[in-house]
Amino acid sequence: MSVQLSYEQFCQRFSTEKECVSALYQLKWPNGFHCPRCQSASYTLISTRRLPLYECRSCLHQTSLISGTVMEGSRTLLQKWFRAIFLIASPSSAINAVKLAEIIEVTYKTAWLILHKLRHAIGHHNANQLLEGIIKINATTYGKPYNPTIFRHPQEHPLLGGASINAQGAITHLKIQQVEERFLAPNSSHVLPAGVAHFQEHYVVPNPVDVVSFTGKRAKLLYQPLIRLCKEAYYWLNDTFHGIGGKHLQAYLHEFCFTVNYALQQQCPFTQLCQLGATTARITYKRLIRKNTASAAKQPLAA
Ligand SMILES: [Zn+2]
Repeated sequence: MSVQLSYEQFCQRFSTEKECVSALYQLKWPNGFHCPRCQSASYTLISTRRLPLYECRSCLHQTSLISGTVMEGSRTLLQKWFRAIFLIASPSSAINAVKLAEIIEVTYKTAWLILHKLRHAIGHHNANQLLEGIIKINATTYGKPYNPTIFRHPQEHPLLGGASINAQGAITHLKIQQVEERFLAPNSSHVLPAGVAHFQEHYVVPNPVDVVSFTGKRAKLLYQPLIRLCKEAYYWLNDTFHGIGGKHLQAYLHEFCFTVNYALQQQCPFTQLCQLGATTARITYKRLIRKNTASAAKQPLAA
């Protein structure tokens, strides 16, 4: 499915819940049904519910089409989920919960949850995509105050941007990660060498060709193409969501990097995002609002 379709064309393509059921079945079981408990391929279809149930003929275990997906437990129509995926995966995606609620006609809370559940799946995917080859790492900050001082402002979020660079010097893969408090100098946004080491350990392949990092005083040397992409992320955060606090910042950065990485590879992220949605276990609302509370103050739902 090409994301080059307009939203209206997309809605026509998936105009019924039945079409979405069939698409989700293909994404969930591309090689045909298999029971999650005993792997048997034979089932009895139970069609008395809103969504089909598949009862394994060997062990009688019943599986819903949405169990084991980000949609598990959701009462929202699949059509609306597909539309949300289309909108988030569209080039220059600028969809926030307020807009999504209006377009797909759900409550603000449902729209906020759908977006965050999809970001959760994206975060899982991004964690497995490591930087490789020639790599640049640059310290940067989101939410820098107008008059910065040597002390860190509470809304200042130190980040590390990392990029794989090809032989022509162009960025092919971007990562932007929040830096944990333990990797910062006291009261400052200065990233300690241990923070860069942690970044390399978690987000870079074990044997990269070359890694150059710019932090501390060297951050002034800045690798400009990477800094430009980080600035784009900050404009996107501010323009689309009117600024984001620390608690969910990483989820939004994941979304930004996901769409940028597909654009850099001149690919469309729609199919990938559908697959991620169909194969990533959901995150519950409870877990979502508890997430990272140790490192950030509780905040109301942000767009
Ligand atoms: Zn079974």
